[in-house]
Amino acid sequence: MKQWQSEWDEGDTGRSTLNIFPKVSQQSANWNRADVLFFTGHGPFPPNLHRFHLANSPLCSCGEIGTPIHYATSCLLTTSWHMKLPKPSLEQEWYRRVASNHLSRGRI
Ligand SMILES: [Zn+2]
Repeated sequence: MKQWQSEWDEGDTGRSTLNIFPKVSQQSANWNRADVLFFTGHGPFPPNLHRFHLANSPLCSCGEIGTPIHYATSCLLTTSWHMKLPKPSLEQEWYRRVASNHLSRGRI
């Protein structure tokens, strides 16, 4: 567990997940597929598709960068599901709170 924690702390991948789960654990996070896609940012979001040359642009249809937080807080196409947009300095805290809140995860 110590070696795993050390590798998790010092790694250079999974940093968005580290933000939510700073401590390694043998307990399952109990995330569903949508949670994994959203919180890891590895879902079919335009920037990912663009990075792998599967889309011509990282932009959402609305014209903004199609990140997970864009869809959850500001995209014109998902208005009915919006949560409050955090200040940029609070974005990591926003992800932690949404991930730990059952109702917020349901909106995701
Ligand atoms: Zn959009």
